[in-house]
Amino acid sequence: MIVVMKVGSPEPEVARVCEELKGWGLSPEKIVGRHKVVLGLVGETVALDPLQIQEISPWIEEVLRVEKPYKRASREYRHGEPSEVIVNTPAGPVPVGEHHAIAVVAGPCSVENEEMIVETAKRVKAAGAHFLRGGAFKPRTSPYAFQGHGESALSLLQAAKDATGLGIITELMDAADLDALAEVADVIQVGARNMQNFSLLKKVGAQDKPVLLKRGMSATIEEWLMAAEYILAAGNPNVILCERGIRTFDSKYARNTLDLAAIPVLRTLTHLPIMIDPSHGTGKWEYVPAMAKAAIAAGTDSLMIEVHPNPAKALSDGPQSLTPDRFDLLMQELAVIGKVVGRWDIQPAMATV
Ligand code: PEP
Ligand code: MN
Repeated sequence: MIVVMKVGSPEPEVARVCEELKGWGLSPEKIVGRHKVVLGLVGETVALDPLQIQEISPWIEEVLRVEKPYKRASREYRHGEPSEVIVNTPAGPVPVGEHHAIAVVAGPCSVENEEMIVETAKRVKAAGAHFLRGGAFKPRTSPYAFQGHGESALSLLQAAKDATGLGIITELMDAADLDALAEVADVIQVGARNMQNFSLLKKVGAQDKPVLLKRGMSATIEEWLMAAEYILAAGNPNVILCERGIRTFDSKYARNTLDLAAIPVLRTLTHLPIMIDPSHGTGKWEYVPAMAKAAIAAGTDSLMIEVHPNPAKALSDGPQSLTPDRFDLLMQELAVIGKVVGRWDIQPAMATV
């Protein structure tokens, strides 16, 4: 349920309404939007009469029920106002959300060694990326495939961060690694295969770092939003949703089916920021530029692109990785569309030629 306060409601009155609702055994969550203050109520609200709540204050404009199974993740919960996730990076805060410029995440699938991660970080930074991605813990289909270097790769990510000032995004697979990973990660990634690992979701929900929640490869949008709800319900409001391709009947030519329709669909359902990953979404570097451009045109808030200094030798996901030179070119192409939609703040001076 949400309580919408009237424009200009005095702060003491909003506080009084919150106190009154707490007295009813509810935990109101105050959401300050651009125009209005909204109080989100989750819990035993089924038996509550909206009219009774309305009577608490003349400053209450309306009381609405959130009909969706996800509450905090729903667009209604913020009365239509998009949320922003502000990520603290060494270079300063980077906002991700509908009212902001597109945030670009780039880097290799896996952290392979110090030289390659630092070199890639420098190249993607020079091209204008805001974040470096790279897996230390890798979820692989085969137990015999490269599993990532684990904890030792975290210090290599730290070296790349120190060398460039880029924010770091890396995947958490096991809650036991959370503390070590959160020391270097500015955003914690929950991968497609763990989207419904509810105990992991509760753990990342109970800590402070923003979470990048990838869509499960066979997850419906509602299941995905319910997974986000776990993180929000555990107390972490900073969740970014990442579409990375879903499994459909045809995987002959593209690894997955990148669901770009998820962008406008999510916009109507949730206030959470959206990221698109055309690398895992297509599985082939040749297809990445077209889908990255389409994602910007369709309104994504951010992009995740795999970049490797030598894709032919990559320990994972080489076929879908761009070389740094190809990434430079792509960023120049993305700038054209990003500017048209008014969401590109990467200065030409930062881009390499
Ligand atoms: C990744 O980002 O490298 C990854 C494994 O992604 P996903 O969980 O989407 O497969
Ligand atoms: Mn990968």
